[in-house]
Amino acid sequence: MQFTAEILPDLIMAVAETIEQNAEEVTVLDQVIGDGDHVINLQRGLNALIPLNEELSQMEWTPALKKIGMTLLSTMGGASGSLFGTLFISMSKAVDDRGEINAKGLSEIFIQGVEAVKKRGKSDAGEKTMLDVLIPVSEGMRQGVEANVTLADLLENICQLAVEGMESTRDMLATKGRASYMEERSIGHIDAGARTSQLMICAIVDVLKEQVKG
Ligand code: ADP
Ligand code: MG
Repeated sequence: MQFTAEILPDLIMAVAETIEQNAEEVTVLDQVIGDGDHVINLQRGLNALIPLNEELSQMEWTPALKKIGMTLLSTMGGASGSLFGTLFISMSKAVDDRGEINAKGLSEIFIQGVEAVKKRGKSDAGEKTMLDVLIPVSEGMRQGVEANVTLADLLENICQLAVEGMESTRDMLATKGRASYMEERSIGHIDAGARTSQLMICAIVDVLKEQVKG
């Protein structure tokens, strides 16, 4: 499967659309156990990326992913800005510029990105953050690659893993980020960053699945 950065505008627009469609719900989630700005932070980043679509689509993967990460870092505020920025910058270091992305390649890039987010956030699974979506997805990808699945099969399970991870944050006690100030009162609410990570992953997978089907 040959994926080039030409697919980036479609991915960015799909992400922007799903965030737009779910903006109110996510804002409420961040109001309940955070400060309510998570969607605004994300949209600031996306609004900075959209004008770069044409340029990004002509680039190699390494500089394109780096540019996305740097743009998110410099435009998004909040804890999520540095974490999503870190995700893309570290994925840019793992990507293979030949443009060939198979199941193994895609997993390796994502696993490396998620490891960097863990370091940057000094956090891990079970702390009621975006990592409760990112980690199960990267684990699922790792297992898929070990079982030698095709790219199409790998993509098939990812959105479901993301949804389960997002839902798992409901019963968790927040120990990182603003929600941790709520202590026990954070229990019973889904984490905003987990929800947006899940929405973005499902939107990206949908676009990639169409592409794989050809
Ligand atoms: P802020 O918390 O600064 O207002 P946002 O509202 O944009 O920033 O993002 C909040 C989201 O960031 C949370 O819902 C959570 O998923 C994620 N988050 C916050 N701190 C951490 C951390 N240390 N590790 C991983 N994710 C975190
Ligand atoms: Mg916030």
